[in-house]
Amino acid sequence: MGLRVGVFGAGGRMGSTVCRAVEADPDLELVAAVDPHHAGLDVRQVTGVNADWQLAADGQAFLDQQVEVVIDFTILDAARTNLLWLARQGIHAVAGTTGFSEDDYARFERAFTSSNCVVAPNFAIGAVLMMRFAELAAPYFETAEIIELHHDQKLDAPSGTAMLTAERMAAASATWAPDPTQTTVVDGARGGEGPAGIHLHSLRLRGLVAHQEVLLGTTGQTLSLRHDSYDRDSFMPGVVLATKAVADRPGLTVGLDTLLDL
Ligand code: NAP
Repeated sequence: MGLRVGVFGAGGRMGSTVCRAVEADPDLELVAAVDPHHAGLDVRQVTGVNADWQLAADGQAFLDQQVEVVIDFTILDAARTNLLWLARQGIHAVAGTTGFSEDDYARFERAFTSSNCVVAPNFAIGAVLMMRFAELAAPYFETAEIIELHHDQKLDAPSGTAMLTAERMAAASATWAPDPTQTTVVDGARGGEGPAGIHLHSLRLRGLVAHQEVLLGTTGQTLSLRHDSYDRDSFMPGVVLATKAVADRPGLTVGLDTLLDL
């Protein structure tokens, strides 16, 4: 018997991939899956997992199945509600849904007292390393821009990874050069301005999955850091790692860095 796991958003692109990854891991057991618009459908049909129970409409299924960890890949408003509900139930949470604000994190920190929560805007190990490298490089460059590229169904912009990268780079250096732009011919040509004035550019193209480039410049040289997730499976080792580790990480953990000892 493995760790009893449930999934919020099991009918989605990420949620269904997570269901298969949980099922494939010998230490984990998928025992319940929730997705309101797919409720009542066979889990095999929706996710490809070899089981004969049905998706549920709400979290009661997690209580009925005595789930120990719930993984959430839904949409921002749903995830806010889901995580606070899990905290009230004393169930550990692993969240990949993106778009949380500092206020959300503060609320989760207060709420998760009898169970734990790991939130990561990017579960791909390579992306976690890219963020760390960008943070290490920041003090040696005065200008930086972040370009994030995603599939054309992504609802939020900029990506959680781009925001977190900018926040960490901004915190790592106090010497950023001002933007010289005085006029823009097209609105938004310089992208959005993130922490410390670091510009963020969001590209949405059919065929992409999740990609990011961090460009840093100083006199006579630039440094480019790029990460590409070609497939949603790229996120699964990180999700599985967090699912197994969450019980040992009291309160709220944001990002995979501490789980990877970075
Ligand atoms: P998606 O295909 O739209 O899946 C979201 C699923 O959640 C949908 O099936 C949706 O159902 C369902 N849902 C909505 N409200 C719900 C609720 N209250 N309870 C349970 N399920 C609910 O989106 P996706 O591409 O899988 O992405 C999901 C999230 O993961 C996004 O925030 C995305 O940015 C993020 N993401 C994170 C990572 C990471 O590494 N952290 C990687 C990739 C994506 P309906 O469609 O029927 O409403």
